[in-house]
Amino acid sequence: IDEITLSYIQREEKFGAHNYHPLPVVLNKGEGIYVWDVNGKRFFDFLSGYSAVNQGHCHPKIVDVFVDQARTLTLTSRAFHAEKFVEYTEYITALFGFDKVLPMNGGVEAVETAIKLARRWGYRVKHVPEDQAKVVTAAENFHGRTLNVISFSTDLTAKSGFGPYMPGYETIPFNDLEALKQVVKDPNVVAFLVEPIQGEAGVVVPEDGYLKSAAQICRDANVLFIADEIQTGLARTGKMLACDHEDVRPDILILGKALSGGTMPISAVLADDEIMLTIQPGEHGSTFGGSPLAAATAMAALQVLVDENLSENADRLGQIFRDTIRSWNHPHIAEVRGKGLLNAIVVKHSNDKAAEILCYELLQNGLLAKPTHGDKIRFAPPLVITEEELLEALDIIRKSFAVL
Ligand code: PLP
Repeated sequence: IDEITLSYIQREEKFGAHNYHPLPVVLNKGEGIYVWDVNGKRFFDFLSGYSAVNQGHCHPKIVDVFVDQARTLTLTSRAFHAEKFVEYTEYITALFGFDKVLPMNGGVEAVETAIKLARRWGYRVKHVPEDQAKVVTAAENFHGRTLNVISFSTDLTAKSGFGPYMPGYETIPFNDLEALKQVVKDPNVVAFLVEPIQGEAGVVVPEDGYLKSAAQICRDANVLFIADEIQTGLARTGKMLACDHEDVRPDILILGKALSGGTMPISAVLADDEIMLTIQPGEHGSTFGGSPLAAATAMAALQVLVDENLSENADRLGQIFRDTIRSWNHPHIAEVRGKGLLNAIVVKHSNDKAAEILCYELLQNGLLAKPTHGDKIRFAPPLVITEEELLEALDIIRKSFAVL
């Protein structure tokens, strides 16, 4: 590591909390699929801010709207009506086909909101006895970091040492319809919360038909099907929503990350009136949720996904990405899996640090990617990447394997 980079890293280590373990690179500029470090070195960004930058870094259309709105009106709070918020509610509900939207900021806030809605619906509509509602979640899930959400995490690194935990959750294995059928027999189950593809777990793709059958099992049992599409949504997997691959319409849809194109934290929960209207004034909210700045930015970010056909691009290039890697028949690649441009390589090597070593080599060679859960590396570039650029990145990935 060069001296400039090292001095930044040391300063962060001294003054910043140690809750992340970043790769040793210090970035200060981004454009499209690229980011630059403090020495002016350019990198392919194959993390995309954990899929928040689907539209590419500093997309000019999003930034223009963001800056214009920042100069005009940023925050009113929901104590008053705001013109942009009105426009946004109409726009996003029409785009996704739900009666209503509830705006929040970070992803985990939207997850919390969805769970509150599900419990409320459980008590008011399904008539579950007060305080008895149960929400079913999948093992190896990742839905965020609040105390409530880690209460149903199965990842001890995320969970242990933060108790006591929130009751009211049941865990079943992911991709297991039989387990779901059994658990929803309990009349106090109000919802099944699931990621259509488990992102943080290492891009775990369920069997074809899983989502459709899971949604049907829920419907038959009068249980809400909640899709956390914070990472899989917004064109990432080759459709606007990962649920669209199976024509599944969740009862509650959770969006975040790319909803702002990476400019600011914007999340949303979408549902129909039967669910959404179980929460009334004063019962839930957020100072910044649905601010004029967020509303304008989210509309611009969504419009870019539509105008630039980013789902189609993700679908086509994702296929090329997986086909190319499979064609290498590489001895150190156990598997490449994913949908659209949400993919992961499972590294096969006797050294259990191999994935990390590979990511360091990728960094040296001009491509940023991060290992997850030891042996997996996620590859999720901004969806504005072209075929030519993808092939160049694939070349870097292939060459980097020589380090192992
Ligand atoms: N849900 C899923 C599926 C995610 O991938 C993430 C973040 O990685 C979250 C929720 C949490 O979002 P945030 O970090 O914005 O709170």
